[in-house]
Amino acid sequence: MIAELISVGTEILLGNIVNTNAAFLAKQCAALGLSCYHQTVVGDNEERLCEAIRTALTRADILILSGGLGPTQDDLTKEMVARVTGRELLLDEHSKERIRDFFQLRGREITGNNWKQAYYPEGAIILDNENGTAPGLILPYLDKHILLLPGPPEELEPMFVNQMSPYLKELQQEVICSSTVKLCGIGESKAETQILDLLEKQSNPTIAPYAKTGEVHFRVTARAETEAKAKALLEPVVQELTGRFGSQVYTIREEVSLEQAVAELLQEKGWKIATAESCTGGMVAARLTRVAGVSGVFETGVITYANETKRELLGVKEETLAHFGAVSFQTAEEMVLGLAERTGAEVSLSITGIAGPSGGTKEKPVGLVFIGCKIKENVTIKEFHFSGNREKIRESSVVAALSLVRSCMLAYE
Ligand code: ATP
Repeated sequence: MIAELISVGTEILLGNIVNTNAAFLAKQCAALGLSCYHQTVVGDNEERLCEAIRTALTRADILILSGGLGPTQDDLTKEMVARVTGRELLLDEHSKERIRDFFQLRGREITGNNWKQAYYPEGAIILDNENGTAPGLILPYLDKHILLLPGPPEELEPMFVNQMSPYLKELQQEVICSSTVKLCGIGESKAETQILDLLEKQSNPTIAPYAKTGEVHFRVTARAETEAKAKALLEPVVQELTGRFGSQVYTIREEVSLEQAVAELLQEKGWKIATAESCTGGMVAARLTRVAGVSGVFETGVITYANETKRELLGVKEETLAHFGAVSFQTAEEMVLGLAERTGAEVSLSITGIAGPSGGTKEKPVGLVFIGCKIKENVTIKEFHFSGNREKIRESSVVAALSLVRSCMLAYE
């Protein structure tokens, strides 16, 4: 089935809001196995909104409209859907009550126009909004389905996941199952060339590659009449991918991030990690501490940005800094050795680099980063050359550091 997204709001057209709803909904549609060929952004304008709805009805089975369900005059989505489909707008007493309760609970006064949100196009299924006042709506129309969602992401996302997604699953004759094979320590083009044969002959399951900073994800999706059959189709392809990429695969679970994979490996080994960061300013520690329950494996993180702190907190020698510079193999090494000695952590990590935009030289250009990893007595220092702006270089450094720690842990006998 084909789905089409229509994001309603002049604020989006003007660039005042980034259209994160469309990104969210597009991903959800892909996961549900719906094909999405068009997305439209349309302002709060009657004619253009009706035109967008009519056009979408000519080419999609499912229309997903977001925004414009508010109480004000310029919130037009429901009204225009009713106009295009020739449905009357009726008052829903249940929604009216919920709106009344919502305002009373917060001690806020209801203005007359709030009741506008309790109206629905005749024949629509009304979905309670657990996080706001605008109910969601599903309007079956001819052989199509028009879905209306409130604009605020904190309302839209749970409503879609909990109430609309099950409805869309019911519509599908087939079951969709997917798995994501996530890799680190390999570039996108290299990863793709290793599976060109699989990409060329793919049909069911499909393999979709996604490149993230320092990571490559392959989303494998299979369709079948039953979940068991879809999973049976999925499994050999996932196995083939994990076989080809070996230890570069850090997970095949959608919800697992690289930092979580690192934390899980630390847990498995019964080791603790300590970090000393310069150019990344604590970003590695921040990523690791995003993982719930990481306290069992995360010892400490220091930001040693200035040379003095590299000396005072980590024992980096004055001569090393003077002779080789703060961004050097030797400094990264002394940082990681000093950190390990002071913390006693089994795994220590150091990062020093030039994130730019200034500070680069011909010998040491912007993007040069040294990452050190010490696991018990084994010390590894790696030199990297990243490109992009300051943030991109810092982000690449963080991923490379997590990736290096992971590979050093796996390699440790
Ligand atoms: P409300 O009942 O809050 O008025 P609504 O359904 O009328 O909701 P809009 O008025 O269109 O929605 O948008 C309300 C807010 O939701 C916007 O100010 C913005 O913060 C957020 N929002 C709307 N559309 C999007 C979008 N496409 N992506 C991200 N955020 C959005």
